[in-house]
Amino acid sequence: MTSDQKTPSDTAPRSPTGAPVAKDWIMAIAPYVPGKAKSDDGRTLIKLSANENPLGTSPVVRDAVRDALADLATYPDPSATALREAIAATHGLDPARVIYGTGSDELLHLAASAFAGPGDEIIYVKYGFSVYDIAARRVGATPVVVADRDYGTDVDALLAAVTERTRVVYLANPNNPTGTFTPRAEIARLLDGLRPDILFVLDQAYAEYLSDDEDDHGLQLAMDRANVFVTRTFSKIYGLAAERIGWGYASAAVIDALHRIRAPFNLTTSAQAAGIAALGDQRFVEQSREHNRVWRGWLAEQMEALGNHGVRVVPSGANFLLILFEGAVGAETVYTALMDAGYATRWLPGQGLPQALRITIGTEAHVKDIAARVRTLVTGEG
Ligand SMILES: *Cc1c(COP(=O)(O)O)cnc(C)c1O
Repeated sequence: MTSDQKTPSDTAPRSPTGAPVAKDWIMAIAPYVPGKAKSDDGRTLIKLSANENPLGTSPVVRDAVRDALADLATYPDPSATALREAIAATHGLDPARVIYGTGSDELLHLAASAFAGPGDEIIYVKYGFSVYDIAARRVGATPVVVADRDYGTDVDALLAAVTERTRVVYLANPNNPTGTFTPRAEIARLLDGLRPDILFVLDQAYAEYLSDDEDDHGLQLAMDRANVFVTRTFSKIYGLAAERIGWGYASAAVIDALHRIRAPFNLTTSAQAAGIAALGDQRFVEQSREHNRVWRGWLAEQMEALGNHGVRVVPSGANFLLILFEGAVGAETVYTALMDAGYATRWLPGQGLPQALRITIGTEAHVKDIAARVRTLVTGEG
Protein backbone atom coordinates (compact mmCIF):
# COMPACT_ATOMS: atom_id res chain seq x y z
CA MET A 1 0.00 0.00 0.00
CA THR A 2 1.41 3.40 -0.93
CA SER A 3 1.27 6.18 1.60
CA ASP A 4 -1.39 8.22 -0.21
CA GLN A 5 -3.91 5.35 -0.28
CA LYS A 6 -6.70 5.99 2.17
CA THR A 7 -8.68 3.37 4.02
CA PRO A 8 -12.43 3.40 3.24
CA SER A 9 -14.74 5.09 5.70
CA ASP A 10 -16.58 2.88 8.18
CA THR A 11 -19.85 3.41 6.31
CA ALA A 12 -18.58 2.41 2.85
CA PRO A 13 -19.72 -1.07 1.77
CA ARG A 14 -16.93 -3.68 1.66
CA SER A 15 -16.62 -6.95 -0.15
CA PRO A 16 -14.64 -9.77 1.44
CA THR A 17 -12.06 -9.48 -1.37
CA GLY A 18 -11.83 -5.69 -1.18
CA ALA A 19 -13.23 -5.39 -4.73
CA PRO A 20 -15.54 -2.46 -5.65
CA VAL A 21 -19.09 -2.80 -4.33
CA ALA A 22 -21.99 -1.37 -6.31
CA LYS A 23 -24.58 0.71 -4.49
CA ASP A 24 -27.25 -1.48 -2.96
CA TRP A 25 -29.99 0.34 -4.91
CA ILE A 26 -28.16 -0.51 -8.15
CA MET A 27 -28.00 -4.19 -7.24
CA ALA A 28 -31.75 -4.08 -6.51
CA ILE A 29 -32.41 -3.35 -10.20
CA ALA A 30 -33.84 -6.23 -12.24
CA PRO A 31 -32.01 -5.92 -15.59
CA TYR A 32 -34.07 -4.82 -18.62
CA VAL A 33 -35.15 -7.80 -20.72
CA PRO A 34 -35.17 -6.98 -24.45
CA GLY A 35 -37.62 -8.61 -26.86
CA LYS A 36 -36.22 -11.82 -28.28
CA ALA A 37 -34.95 -12.12 -31.86
CA LYS A 38 -33.82 -15.74 -31.53
CA SER A 39 -35.39 -18.91 -30.17
CA ASP A 40 -33.89 -20.71 -27.20
CA ASP A 41 -32.27 -23.15 -29.65
CA GLY A 42 -30.71 -20.32 -31.68
CA ARG A 43 -33.09 -19.98 -34.64
CA THR A 44 -33.66 -16.46 -36.00
CA LEU A 45 -37.29 -15.52 -35.43
CA ILE A 46 -39.78 -13.15 -36.97
CA LYS A 47 -39.61 -10.47 -34.32
CA LEU A 48 -42.98 -9.39 -32.99
CA SER A 49 -41.54 -8.79 -29.54
CA ALA A 50 -40.23 -5.22 -29.61
CA ASN A 51 -42.96 -3.15 -31.32
CA GLU A 52 -40.83 -2.34 -34.33
CA ASN A 53 -42.36 -1.15 -37.60
CA PRO A 54 -43.23 -4.12 -39.88
CA LEU A 55 -43.02 -1.80 -42.92
CA GLY A 56 -39.36 -1.08 -42.12
CA THR A 57 -38.05 2.44 -42.70
CA SER A 58 -38.81 5.13 -45.25
CA PRO A 59 -36.45 4.77 -48.25
CA VAL A 60 -35.48 8.47 -48.03
CA VAL A 61 -33.98 7.76 -44.61
CA ARG A 62 -31.62 5.16 -46.04
CA ASP A 63 -30.16 7.73 -48.44
CA ALA A 64 -29.71 10.28 -45.65
CA VAL A 65 -27.91 7.76 -43.46
CA ARG A 66 -25.64 6.75 -46.34
CA ASP A 67 -24.73 10.41 -46.97
CA ALA A 68 -23.98 10.91 -43.28
CA LEU A 69 -21.27 8.24 -43.50
CA ALA A 70 -19.15 10.62 -45.61
CA ASP A 71 -17.67 12.23 -42.50
CA LEU A 72 -17.01 9.77 -39.71
CA ALA A 73 -14.01 11.56 -38.17
CA THR A 74 -15.90 14.61 -36.89
CA TYR A 75 -18.08 14.72 -33.78
CA PRO A 76 -21.79 15.15 -34.44
CA ASP A 77 -23.52 18.51 -33.93
CA PRO A 78 -23.73 18.60 -30.10
CA SER A 79 -26.84 20.80 -30.27
CA ALA A 80 -28.64 18.71 -32.91
CA THR A 81 -29.81 22.06 -34.27
CA ALA A 82 -31.20 20.96 -37.62
CA LEU A 83 -33.04 18.02 -36.05
CA ARG A 84 -34.54 20.19 -33.28
CA GLU A 85 -35.71 22.68 -35.89
CA ALA A 86 -37.27 19.93 -38.00
CA ILE A 87 -39.07 18.49 -34.95
CA ALA A 88 -40.27 21.95 -33.91
CA ALA A 89 -41.52 22.72 -37.43
CA THR A 90 -43.38 19.39 -37.66
CA HIS A 91 -45.17 19.83 -34.32
CA GLY A 92 -45.42 23.62 -33.99
CA LEU A 93 -42.95 23.86 -31.07
CA ASP A 94 -40.15 26.15 -29.89
CA PRO A 95 -36.88 24.48 -31.04
CA ALA A 96 -35.06 25.82 -27.96
CA ARG A 97 -37.26 23.65 -25.77
CA VAL A 98 -36.73 20.41 -27.71
CA ILE A 99 -34.27 17.99 -26.09
CA TYR A 100 -32.93 14.85 -27.75
CA GLY A 101 -31.67 11.57 -26.41
CA THR A 102 -30.11 8.26 -27.33
CA GLY A 103 -33.58 6.83 -27.65
CA SER A 104 -36.29 8.23 -25.44
CA ASP A 105 -34.92 5.78 -22.87
CA GLU A 106 -32.09 8.23 -22.18
CA LEU A 107 -34.60 11.02 -21.61
CA LEU A 108 -36.66 8.91 -19.19
CA HIS A 109 -33.47 8.34 -17.19
CA LEU A 110 -32.55 12.04 -17.28
CA ALA A 111 -35.92 12.97 -15.79
CA ALA A 112 -35.37 10.79 -12.73
CA SER A 113 -31.72 11.83 -12.41
CA ALA A 114 -32.44 15.55 -12.49
CA PHE A 115 -35.50 15.59 -10.24
CA ALA A 116 -35.20 12.71 -7.77
CA GLY A 117 -32.68 11.01 -5.53
CA PRO A 118 -32.45 8.91 -2.36
CA GLY A 119 -35.46 9.50 -0.11
CA ASP A 120 -37.65 10.69 -2.99
CA GLU A 121 -40.52 8.74 -4.54
CA ILE A 122 -41.27 8.07 -8.20
CA ILE A 123 -44.73 6.85 -9.18
CA TYR A 124 -45.79 4.71 -12.13
CA VAL A 125 -48.50 2.17 -12.88
CA LYS A 126 -48.21 -1.55 -12.16
CA TYR A 127 -48.11 -2.65 -15.80
CA GLY A 128 -45.92 0.29 -16.80
CA PHE A 129 -42.88 0.47 -19.05
CA SER A 130 -40.06 -1.40 -17.33
CA VAL A 131 -37.54 1.40 -17.86
CA TYR A 132 -39.35 3.56 -15.23
CA ASP A 133 -38.42 1.09 -12.51
CA ILE A 134 -34.79 1.06 -13.62
CA ALA A 135 -34.66 4.87 -13.91
CA ALA A 136 -36.09 5.32 -10.41
CA ARG A 137 -33.82 2.79 -8.72
CA ARG A 138 -30.73 3.96 -10.56
CA VAL A 139 -30.85 7.31 -8.74
CA GLY A 140 -31.69 5.69 -5.40
CA ALA A 141 -35.29 6.91 -5.41
CA THR A 142 -38.11 4.73 -4.11
CA PRO A 143 -40.43 3.30 -6.79
CA VAL A 144 -44.12 3.55 -5.92
CA VAL A 145 -46.22 1.20 -8.05
CA VAL A 146 -49.93 1.94 -8.42
CA ALA A 147 -52.56 -0.69 -9.21
CA ASP A 148 -54.29 -0.69 -12.59
CA ARG A 149 -57.99 -0.63 -13.38
CA ASP A 150 -58.55 -3.62 -15.70
CA TYR A 151 -55.06 -3.05 -17.15
CA GLY A 152 -55.72 0.67 -17.72
CA THR A 153 -54.62 3.78 -15.83
CA ASP A 154 -56.47 4.49 -12.58
CA VAL A 155 -56.02 8.25 -12.15
CA ASP A 156 -57.59 8.26 -8.68
CA ALA A 157 -55.17 5.56 -7.51
CA LEU A 158 -52.23 7.50 -8.97
CA LEU A 159 -53.28 10.66 -7.18
CA ALA A 160 -53.85 8.77 -3.93
CA ALA A 161 -50.24 7.50 -4.08
CA VAL A 162 -48.75 11.01 -4.05
CA THR A 163 -46.91 11.95 -0.87
CA GLU A 164 -44.77 14.91 0.13
CA ARG A 165 -41.79 12.88 -1.14
CA THR A 166 -43.16 12.39 -4.66
CA ARG A 167 -40.92 14.03 -7.27
CA VAL A 168 -41.74 12.33 -10.58
CA VAL A 169 -44.77 10.55 -12.09
CA TYR A 170 -44.24 8.47 -15.25
CA LEU A 171 -47.13 7.58 -17.51
CA ALA A 172 -47.01 6.13 -21.01
CA ASN A 173 -49.94 6.97 -23.27
CA PRO A 174 -50.68 4.61 -24.93
CA ASN A 175 -49.10 2.36 -22.34
CA ASN A 176 -46.64 -0.47 -22.92
CA PRO A 177 -47.13 -3.45 -22.41
CA THR A 178 -50.92 -3.06 -22.05
CA GLY A 179 -51.61 -0.79 -25.05
CA THR A 180 -54.25 1.02 -23.00
CA PHE A 181 -55.01 4.64 -23.78
CA THR A 182 -55.78 7.24 -21.14
CA PRO A 183 -58.17 9.85 -22.59
CA ARG A 184 -57.34 13.53 -22.71
CA ALA A 185 -59.78 14.42 -19.91
CA GLU A 186 -58.20 11.86 -17.59
CA ILE A 187 -54.69 13.13 -18.33
CA ALA A 188 -55.89 16.65 -17.56
CA ARG A 189 -57.50 15.48 -14.33
CA LEU A 190 -54.30 13.74 -13.27
CA LEU A 191 -52.23 16.82 -13.97
CA ASP A 192 -54.68 19.10 -12.16
CA GLY A 193 -54.39 16.86 -9.11
CA LEU A 194 -50.58 16.86 -9.00
CA ARG A 195 -48.63 19.46 -7.04
CA PRO A 196 -46.82 21.79 -9.46
CA ASP A 197 -43.41 20.73 -8.08
CA ILE A 198 -43.95 17.12 -9.26
CA LEU A 199 -42.58 16.42 -12.74
CA PHE A 200 -45.17 14.61 -14.87
CA VAL A 201 -43.38 12.58 -17.56
CA LEU A 202 -45.83 11.74 -20.33
CA ASP A 203 -44.19 9.05 -22.47
CA GLN A 204 -45.71 9.26 -25.95
CA ALA A 205 -43.67 6.54 -27.66
CA TYR A 206 -46.85 5.41 -29.47
CA ALA A 207 -48.62 8.76 -29.87
CA GLU A 208 -48.34 8.70 -33.67
CA TYR A 209 -50.53 5.58 -33.78
CA LEU A 210 -53.48 7.46 -32.30
CA SER A 211 -56.16 9.01 -34.47
CA ASP A 212 -56.57 12.80 -34.31
CA ASP A 213 -59.59 12.56 -32.03
CA GLU A 214 -57.62 10.42 -29.55
CA ASP A 215 -54.81 13.00 -29.13
CA ASP A 216 -54.20 13.48 -25.39
CA HIS A 217 -52.88 17.03 -26.02
CA GLY A 218 -49.62 16.16 -24.27
CA LEU A 219 -47.50 18.54 -26.34
CA GLN A 220 -49.94 21.37 -25.61
CA LEU A 221 -49.67 20.58 -21.89
CA ALA A 222 -45.87 20.64 -22.15
CA MET A 223 -46.08 24.05 -23.84
CA ASP A 224 -48.30 25.49 -21.15
CA ARG A 225 -47.30 23.87 -17.87
CA ALA A 226 -43.97 24.08 -16.07
CA ASN A 227 -44.11 20.50 -14.77
CA VAL A 228 -44.90 18.45 -17.89
CA PHE A 229 -42.20 16.62 -19.86
CA VAL A 230 -43.39 14.82 -23.00
CA THR A 231 -41.12 12.22 -24.61
CA ARG A 232 -41.32 10.87 -28.15
CA THR A 233 -39.29 8.41 -30.18
CA PHE A 234 -38.25 7.61 -33.74
CA SER A 235 -38.02 3.92 -32.80
CA LYS A 236 -41.65 2.98 -33.35
CA ILE A 237 -43.76 4.47 -36.16
CA TYR A 238 -40.73 6.05 -37.88
CA GLY A 239 -39.06 2.63 -38.08
CA LEU A 240 -35.71 3.87 -36.78
CA ALA A 241 -35.08 1.77 -33.68
CA ALA A 242 -31.52 0.99 -34.81
CA GLU A 243 -30.51 4.67 -34.79
CA ARG A 244 -31.62 5.33 -31.17
CA ILE A 245 -33.34 8.74 -31.50
CA GLY A 246 -35.68 10.14 -28.89
CA TRP A 247 -36.81 13.68 -28.19
CA GLY A 248 -38.73 15.52 -25.55
CA TYR A 249 -40.47 18.82 -24.83
CA ALA A 250 -40.87 20.74 -21.58
CA SER A 251 -40.46 24.18 -20.02
CA ALA A 252 -37.14 25.97 -20.58
CA ALA A 253 -36.19 25.35 -16.93
CA VAL A 254 -36.77 21.59 -17.13
CA ILE A 255 -34.92 21.35 -20.44
CA ASP A 256 -32.00 23.33 -18.99
CA ALA A 257 -31.67 20.85 -16.11
CA LEU A 258 -31.80 17.83 -18.43
CA HIS A 259 -29.14 19.23 -20.79
CA ARG A 260 -26.69 19.48 -17.90
CA ILE A 261 -26.62 15.71 -17.44
CA ARG A 262 -27.22 14.21 -20.89
CA ALA A 263 -24.24 12.68 -22.65
CA PRO A 264 -22.44 15.43 -24.65
CA PHE A 265 -22.73 13.88 -28.14
CA ASN A 266 -25.73 11.68 -27.50
CA LEU A 267 -27.06 11.64 -31.08
CA THR A 268 -24.76 10.41 -33.82
CA THR A 269 -24.42 12.27 -37.11
CA SER A 270 -26.34 9.54 -38.92
CA ALA A 271 -29.07 9.56 -36.24
CA GLN A 272 -29.58 13.30 -36.67
CA ALA A 273 -29.71 12.94 -40.47
CA ALA A 274 -32.07 9.98 -40.21
CA GLY A 275 -34.46 11.84 -37.93
CA ILE A 276 -34.63 14.86 -40.22
CA ALA A 277 -35.23 12.70 -43.30
CA ALA A 278 -37.87 10.65 -41.49
CA LEU A 279 -39.82 13.75 -40.46
CA GLY A 280 -39.82 14.76 -44.12
CA ASP A 281 -41.68 11.62 -45.18
CA GLN A 282 -45.00 11.88 -43.36
CA ARG A 283 -46.58 9.70 -46.04
CA PHE A 284 -44.61 6.77 -44.66
CA VAL A 285 -45.92 7.62 -41.18
CA GLU A 286 -49.51 7.70 -42.48
CA GLN A 287 -49.07 4.37 -44.27
CA SER A 288 -47.67 2.84 -41.09
CA ARG A 289 -50.54 4.20 -38.99
CA GLU A 290 -53.10 2.89 -41.46
CA HIS A 291 -51.48 -0.54 -41.71
CA ASN A 292 -51.53 -0.74 -37.94
CA ARG A 293 -55.14 0.41 -37.63
CA VAL A 294 -56.37 -2.18 -40.13
CA TRP A 295 -54.41 -5.20 -38.90
CA ARG A 296 -54.63 -4.43 -35.21
CA GLY A 297 -58.40 -4.18 -35.63
CA TRP A 298 -58.51 -7.41 -37.61
CA LEU A 299 -56.36 -9.35 -35.14
CA ALA A 300 -58.38 -8.04 -32.19
CA GLU A 301 -61.61 -9.26 -33.85
CA GLN A 302 -60.12 -12.68 -34.54
CA MET A 303 -58.99 -13.04 -30.94
CA GLU A 304 -62.26 -11.77 -29.48
CA ALA A 305 -64.03 -14.44 -31.52
CA LEU A 306 -62.20 -16.95 -29.31
CA GLY A 307 -63.81 -15.48 -26.20
CA ASN A 308 -65.51 -18.71 -25.18
CA HIS A 309 -62.05 -20.31 -25.07
CA GLY A 310 -60.91 -17.73 -22.52
CA VAL A 311 -59.18 -15.38 -24.94
CA ARG A 312 -59.56 -11.67 -24.26
CA VAL A 313 -57.98 -8.59 -25.85
CA VAL A 314 -57.03 -5.48 -23.92
CA PRO A 315 -58.14 -2.44 -26.01
CA SER A 316 -55.01 -1.00 -27.66
CA GLY A 317 -54.05 2.43 -28.98
CA ALA A 318 -50.54 1.24 -29.89
CA ASN A 319 -48.87 -1.02 -32.48
CA PHE A 320 -49.36 -4.19 -30.47
CA LEU A 321 -52.06 -6.13 -28.68
CA LEU A 322 -51.96 -7.54 -25.17
CA ILE A 323 -53.90 -10.80 -25.48
CA LEU A 324 -55.08 -12.60 -22.34
CA PHE A 325 -55.32 -16.39 -22.31
CA GLU A 326 -57.53 -17.23 -19.36
CA GLY A 327 -58.91 -20.56 -20.60
CA ALA A 328 -57.54 -24.10 -20.76
CA VAL A 329 -54.73 -23.10 -23.13
CA GLY A 330 -52.50 -20.60 -21.35
CA ALA A 331 -50.21 -17.82 -22.58
CA GLU A 332 -47.02 -19.84 -22.07
CA THR A 333 -48.33 -22.63 -24.31
CA VAL A 334 -49.22 -20.15 -27.05
CA TYR A 335 -45.89 -18.36 -26.64
CA THR A 336 -43.95 -21.61 -27.03
CA ALA A 337 -46.05 -22.80 -29.99
CA LEU A 338 -45.57 -19.49 -31.80
CA MET A 339 -41.83 -19.67 -31.14
CA ASP A 340 -41.75 -23.18 -32.59
CA ALA A 341 -43.52 -21.74 -35.64
CA GLY A 342 -40.83 -19.06 -35.98
CA TYR A 343 -42.34 -16.06 -34.15
CA ALA A 344 -40.94 -14.11 -31.21
CA THR A 345 -43.73 -12.60 -29.13
CA ARG A 346 -43.56 -11.19 -25.62
CA TRP A 347 -44.60 -13.30 -22.66
CA LEU A 348 -44.23 -11.23 -19.51
CA PRO A 349 -44.46 -13.29 -16.31
CA GLY A 350 -41.68 -11.11 -14.89
CA GLN A 351 -43.97 -8.09 -15.16
CA GLY A 352 -46.85 -9.81 -13.41
CA LEU A 353 -48.51 -10.88 -16.67
CA PRO A 354 -48.14 -14.69 -16.89
CA GLN A 355 -51.64 -14.85 -18.45
CA ALA A 356 -50.81 -12.52 -21.35
CA LEU A 357 -48.87 -12.27 -24.59
CA ARG A 358 -47.91 -8.97 -26.14
CA ILE A 359 -47.80 -9.30 -29.91
CA THR A 360 -46.55 -6.53 -32.21
CA ILE A 361 -48.75 -5.96 -35.28
CA GLY A 362 -46.62 -7.39 -38.08
CA THR A 363 -47.09 -7.68 -41.82
CA GLU A 364 -50.47 -8.84 -43.16
CA ALA A 365 -49.08 -12.34 -43.79
CA HIS A 366 -47.65 -12.65 -40.29
CA VAL A 367 -50.77 -11.33 -38.57
CA LYS A 368 -52.96 -13.78 -40.52
CA ASP A 369 -50.67 -16.72 -39.84
CA ILE A 370 -50.54 -15.93 -36.11
CA ALA A 371 -54.32 -15.62 -35.89
CA ALA A 372 -54.76 -19.01 -37.59
CA ARG A 373 -52.22 -20.69 -35.32
CA VAL A 374 -53.72 -19.26 -32.14
CA ARG A 375 -57.20 -20.36 -33.24
CA THR A 376 -55.99 -23.90 -33.91
CA LEU A 377 -54.25 -24.05 -30.56
CA VAL A 378 -57.04 -22.80 -28.34
CA THR A 379 -59.94 -24.52 -30.14
CA GLY A 380 -58.04 -27.78 -30.68
CA GLU A 381 -59.38 -27.83 -34.25
CA GLY A 382 -56.81 -28.60 -36.95
C1 LIG B 1 -40.33 1.67 -27.08
C2 LIG B 1 -40.67 2.57 -25.94
C3 LIG B 1 -39.87 3.67 -25.61
C4 LIG B 1 -38.65 4.05 -26.25
O1 LIG B 1 -37.80 3.63 -26.86
P1 LIG B 1 -36.49 4.27 -27.45
O2 LIG B 1 -36.15 3.32 -28.51
O3 LIG B 1 -35.51 4.33 -26.33
O4 LIG B 1 -36.84 5.64 -27.94
C5 LIG B 1 -40.27 4.48 -24.58
N1 LIG B 1 -41.38 4.25 -23.90
C6 LIG B 1 -42.17 3.22 -24.19
C7 LIG B 1 -43.41 3.03 -23.42
C8 LIG B 1 -41.83 2.33 -25.20
O5 LIG B 1 -42.59 1.28 -25.44
